[in-house]
Amino acid sequence: MKMTISYEEITNLKFTGTQVAYYVICKRKLWLFSKGLSYESESEFVELGKLLDERAFKREKEEVEWGENPVKIDFLTGEEGLVVHEVKHSPKLEEAHVLQVKYYLWFLEKSGVKVSHGIIHYPKQRKVLRVELTQEDRKVIVEALENIQKVLLEEKPPEVIKKPYCKKCAYYEFCYG
Ligand code: SF4
Repeated sequence: MKMTISYEEITNLKFTGTQVAYYVICKRKLWLFSKGLSYESESEFVELGKLLDERAFKREKEEVEWGENPVKIDFLTGEEGLVVHEVKHSPKLEEAHVLQVKYYLWFLEKSGVKVSHGIIHYPKQRKVLRVELTQEDRKVIVEALENIQKVLLEEKPPEVIKKPYCKKCAYYEFCYG
């Protein structure tokens, strides 16, 4: 059985930005979501976030996707180098949002697109966060993709993580019910 995965294979793994964010938030959530066990549409919390995003960026926000790519970017600006914009309803899971945007920058760069930086918008808090992609980040992303692949190869979901934000997770009932 093949035990290792090459650098090229890792960089060709196609995950969505949501999967990358869930990898940071909770590996169990990543597994459940990736296996299609989706409760997302039933969660008031998620619905509220979507509504807020839509209202705040009614004109600007237009999801960008192309071809077979798994990456859906909220919107892009810039000419000399593209600026990736992501709109979120709360900075509580900022670490996950930052890696998600870095993944978009990395993905575009790998696809031959000239990128400048990313901006995360938190309209409710009137906050914007600039995100740069460093050399170290590129290594972190490749490592994250490899780890995501490992999680998804597991037959069972990882254990419940018992974090305060579990209460707002769409899988709360499933995990603690
Ligand atoms: S409720 Fe908690 S443990 Fe369960 S998937 Fe959500 S974040 Fe993970």
